[in-house]
Amino acid sequence: MNKSIKKVVIANLKMNGSLSFYDDYLKGLKNGLHDIDNIDVGLCVPYPYLAQAQSILNGSNISWGSQNIAKFENGPYTGEVSATMLNDFGVQYVIVGHSERATAYCESNENIADKFNAIKKYNMTPVLCVGENLIEREAGIMEKVVASQIEAIIKCYGVEIFSDSIIAYEPIWAIGTDMAASPEQTNHMCSYIRKLINQDELNEVKNLKIVYGGSLNSENAVQLFGLKSVDGGLIGRAAINIEEFIKICQSAQTFET
Ligand code: PEP
Repeated sequence: MNKSIKKVVIANLKMNGSLSFYDDYLKGLKNGLHDIDNIDVGLCVPYPYLAQAQSILNGSNISWGSQNIAKFENGPYTGEVSATMLNDFGVQYVIVGHSERATAYCESNENIADKFNAIKKYNMTPVLCVGENLIEREAGIMEKVVASQIEAIIKCYGVEIFSDSIIAYEPIWAIGTDMAASPEQTNHMCSYIRKLINQDELNEVKNLKIVYGGSLNSENAVQLFGLKSVDGGLIGRAAINIEEFIKICQSAQTFET
């Protein structure tokens, strides 16, 4: 079990904000979290604000990241952003496979696997989103769905690629709905994911963090972060409000081991 690692709290700011919003937000967060050093915090901002994040957060205890990446290294891929470009802006975390993208842009599991590989190749930390939709949950096939998302990556690149990575269990029915998964559901799926990755018990994948995402907020954070199987959270709407996000980070801090 991964019990001696720091909790990690990642904000997914989605397509929100502006230059002035991020100026206030980044400075406010840097100030508000300056004395927190026993958890890892990452802010995944829209691409245009990466330079601003780098300039304001550089040297602080907060890392920054993107919400997507191209699977190609360079070339005629209009509108795409490559791993080396993200490296240029000091990116640490890259969200990959988020259901909003998988649904809107028909991303296949194989495409997501190639993006995951690009992130690892350029020494950034993937935040791989996996999870079932409501129909799949009601049909009781959530494990099968999540297994197929993860196994697509293992099949292409081997299980070791999950070292120094983050997997976010994000049931689609919990995203943006104010209907977070229960502690029991979260614990079950996060434990399932860890077992799936660490089938070879003698050779556990190193520094893999499994976090929960989906309507996480300052009210349910303590309960969810308190689960042994949960190494942190991926936070969408609640992260837009800086005070709320700081409270969530403070809850994670309580459980540092
Ligand atoms: C997300 O989309 O990654 C997410 C966790 O969203 P929310 O917290 O708003 O449900």
